[in-house]
Amino acid sequence: MSRLPPLIYHPCYSELQLPDRHRYPIGKYRALYELLLSQSVASHCFVDAPAATIAQLALVHDRRYITALINGELDAKKMRRIGFPWSETLLSRSLQSTGGTIHTAALALKNGIAIHLSGGYHHAFAEEGSGFCLFNDLAIAAKVMQQQGVGKILIFDCDVHQGDGTAVIFAEDPSIITASLHGEKNFPARKQQSDWDIGLENQLTDAPYLQAVNESIQYLLHLHQPDLVIYDAGVDIHQNDDLGLLHISTEGVFQRDLAVLGACKMANIPVAAVIGGGYQRDITALSQVHLQLFRAAWQLAGETLGK
Ligand SMILES: [Zn+2]
Repeated sequence: MSRLPPLIYHPCYSELQLPDRHRYPIGKYRALYELLLSQSVASHCFVDAPAATIAQLALVHDRRYITALINGELDAKKMRRIGFPWSETLLSRSLQSTGGTIHTAALALKNGIAIHLSGGYHHAFAEEGSGFCLFNDLAIAAKVMQQQGVGKILIFDCDVHQGDGTAVIFAEDPSIITASLHGEKNFPARKQQSDWDIGLENQLTDAPYLQAVNESIQYLLHLHQPDLVIYDAGVDIHQNDDLGLLHISTEGVFQRDLAVLGACKMANIPVAAVIGGGYQRDITALSQVHLQLFRAAWQLAGETLGK
């Protein structure tokens, strides 16, 4: 039996006050945490992570952008593009989430796999935020790991929205491979060029989706032989998602996560997974879909996590 994956979480992930009817399901992080905590095979796996430092943010982001965000001085138009009203708790939550993904990557290198109950803020560019993303935690974690001696990194993004910020940040960097499998007719309207892009059609179902995921991860691992994979396991591909437009079942989500984590394990490549996007008003139903990533990881470790 393999060691169980460390799980990274902080209560502040769900503590953000949002206006009524804001579409962001802020309660999902705590719901998922409590769901995992209720299972004896996972409840002892939680670890804390430090918040990201300014120096770590600056490995990816423009200093003026960082300063404006920290001081709450980003202009209204730029805050609207992010989609959250500015607050101290928004800022501390973003720093904590970024630190969580960095720590998840570090623990993946030690344990083979680690999972963050947040992360996947892939619409953040070096100089501006977008689509609920302030700091690009995936990009920052990749840069911090390289500072610590990791060579090639694959960022494998299966959130339904294209990882446009990540693609642009690493457009000129051959040591960090960006891959995105996303809804072609979904946000962002203007797609950027990743190293590997698969644009999926609306209403896509499990079989062709899983084929695309399997072929992509096998090909990219074989071609690039990365030293670390950072996996965005967004569940906004799900058939009940409010924003997704695809038609993937809960079992399809499980099979996808099993395929990605399993391919990394077979190739002996550490994988740091983040839960990414997922938008349903019913938080209990949504956390069951996010749970599939953990079920897949537990299965690979020879354990069973409840449905
Ligand atoms: Zn998304």
